[in-house]
Parts: sequence; structure tokens; C-alpha cells
Amino acid sequence: MEPNEIIETQKRIIDAISYGVSDAIIITDPDRKITHFNKAAETITGFSVVEAMNHPLGEILKLTDGDNQVQVDTFCPLGAVDLQGLIYEGENLNLIDKDEEENIVNVRTHKVRGGATMNLGSIIFIDDTFEQSELERMKLDFVSMAEHVLRTPVTIIRGYISRLLEESTTNKLEEVEKGYLNSAFLATTDLLGLVEDLLNIAEFRRGHVKINAAALNIEGLVSKVVDEFKLVAANKGLNIVFIPPLYSLPMVKADISKLHIVLQNFIENAIKYTNEGKVEVILSKPDNENIQVAVKDSGRGIPQEYIDNLFSKFYRVKKALEMEYGLGLGLYISKKIVDAHGGKVWVESSPETGSTFFFTLPIVSLDDD
Ligand code: ADP
Repeated sequence: MEPNEIIETQKRIIDAISYGVSDAIIITDPDRKITHFNKAAETITGFSVVEAMNHPLGEILKLTDGDNQVQVDTFCPLGAVDLQGLIYEGENLNLIDKDEEENIVNVRTHKVRGGATMNLGSIIFIDDTFEQSELERMKLDFVSMAEHVLRTPVTIIRGYISRLLEESTTNKLEEVEKGYLNSAFLATTDLLGLVEDLLNIAEFRRGHVKINAAALNIEGLVSKVVDEFKLVAANKGLNIVFIPPLYSLPMVKADISKLHIVLQNFIENAIKYTNEGKVEVILSKPDNENIQVAVKDSGRGIPQEYIDNLFSKFYRVKKALEMEYGLGLGLYISKKIVDAHGGKVWVESSPETGSTFFFTLPIVSLDDD
């Protein structure tokens, strides 16, 4: 067979294989011009093979991650001879089709290299998560419904228990009765936390974290959330203190309800995983670019080997799994929120000293928009 015939035959084999598969497959040459476009690629992008062939990939395949466009240089970088194999993987991206409709997809790009130096182009695999996402959507709808049905009664029960825990009432109670009430209060606080986590995860999985930023005096917010937890801490025999900054801080641009969630998660954890001592919430301005919140506890700490995964979804340290209720979502959600504000989260912890969870928020000029 002549070389041309070999190439032609191989092309037909690729066409035949890729025709039948459910993943969209797009192959490009080294300049990112489309040289192959299978049936599933036509379906998901809305472009016909004729419209797509020889066109620049970036004109046919448009991806966004939340509100941000994923640049073609990111999911299919040009040139770079040293790249080969799987070079990009993106999950739950939005593919904007020819009619500007959105589909949720997973994308993988492989670079193909000939010999040591020749860049032969790229193969992009796209799987349409539509069916999965329909199921996911139904699950999320159920979760939000459950959340709405649960949150109100649990909040009411917790409210009444906290009224009973006021001194005027506890004076009339036996020690053992006070103990029962304390336990009921802590358990409903935990339950409310779980319900909130479920709602938040449902919201975040629908897409991305939506930040409604406005000018905010963070000191007011932090001291308010600390106050909200005074009773929960006292019921565990813990002291919680707010340590304000030495000088008043500039306003930040942030989403107050989302930051409330982060503070709640950090403080709730500090109390939950501490049996003796205190929790300090320290607000400061470590440099000219950031405002920092640190939630420091004297609790059981976290062994080093768990630290790297702590902010992952559903991750819980073994001891917590055995001893406390939790979903392992609070830190994951908190990181998502802080990331969406352009800040950072991290933890310093050891079983000897306890844990300090930090997050920063960038100071931005309120005139910037
Ligand atoms: P949850 O508390 O529901 O398990 P989180 O995402 O809030 O989920 O926390 C993940 C894990 O990190 C917890 O299970 C716990 O093991 C650990 N952790 C979080 N905060 C602390 C803390 N202040 N002290 C000790 N361990 C903590």
C-alpha cells in the first residue's frame, strides 16, 4: 500500500470507531485546526462536521467554568513539544453550543507526539453529563426540599431550648435536668449545622459559588458570629473570645451571607473538636493586601497526615468519624467561598497545641468594579 493509502485507511478506521462511541471526539492538527469531528461532537456542539472541519478549535468548542471562559490555550495548549499524553482534564464545565445553549460536560485532552520532537496535534474527548446531571438535579431538588422542611422546625426547637437554658429558668432545674437540656441544645445545633451544609452543597453543585459582593465591615460580622456561638461554647464549658484588630480595618468587598457560612463552619468546628480550654477568633491585617481571620482552638488538633486533604469534599479525620456527627462538607464549602472571594484558607495544627484555621480576604478599593 502507498503511504497515502495507509493514511486514508487509518483515517477511515478512526472515523468508524469514533462514529459509534458516545463521547464526542475532536482531533486537531498541531495548529489547532480541526481534522476530525465525530457524530457525538456534532450532537453536543450543534456544528456539523462540514462546519467544523479545518476550523480553529476555539471557534467550535467554547467552554466556561462557572462565569469564566476556559481559554483554548488552557484546554488545548499550542506547540509545546514536550507535552504528551493526558494534558488537561476539566469536570463539570459548561459547553456553549452553536445556539448558545449550555451543556454540562467533562473534557479530557491528549497531546499526540511523533518521535521525540514532532507535535502531531491533540485529541479532545468530551462526555456529556446530561443524563447524570438530570439525576443529580433531582437529587439536589430533593435535598433542598428536605432542607427547607427541616430547617424551620429545627431552628424553632433550638430556639425554645436556648430559652429554657436562660438563667431564670435553669435556676429552677435540677443539675441532671440542666444536663439533659444542654445535650438537647448541642444536638440540635449539630443538626442545624448538617442541614445548612446540605443546603450549601446543593447550591454549590448547581454550578459555582455566586458571590454578591458589597462593602462590608468585617469586624461587625465577626463579632456577631462569635456572639452567636457564646451559648454553644458555654454549654461545652468552653470560653470563646473575639480578639479585634489593633487598628480599625478598611472595609472589604464581600458577600456577607457567604462569609457568615465560613465563620460559622470554622467556629462550629473549633467548638466541636475541643473539649477543654478556649476558642479565640482573631481578626487582623497581616499586610497591606489582606485581612485575616484566625480561629484558634485548644482542641484535639489534626495529625499531619490528614492536613492536605482536609478541604476536600466529604473528608473527615478518622477520630471525628468515630466520635462526632458530620458530613465532611464544612471546610470544602468554606474553601470554595473564600476562593471565590480571591482569598486563601489554610490550617496550622498539631495534636499537642490544637488547631488554628485561617482565611484571608484581599483588600480591594471599593471604587474598583
Ligand atoms: P465535619 O466537621 O462535618 O466533619 P468539616 O469539613 O467541617 O466537616 O471538617 C472536616 C474534618 O476536619 C472534620 O471531620 C475533622 O476531622 C477535621 N477538623 C475540622 N476542624 C477541626 C478542628 N478545629 N479541630 C480538629 N479537627 C478539625
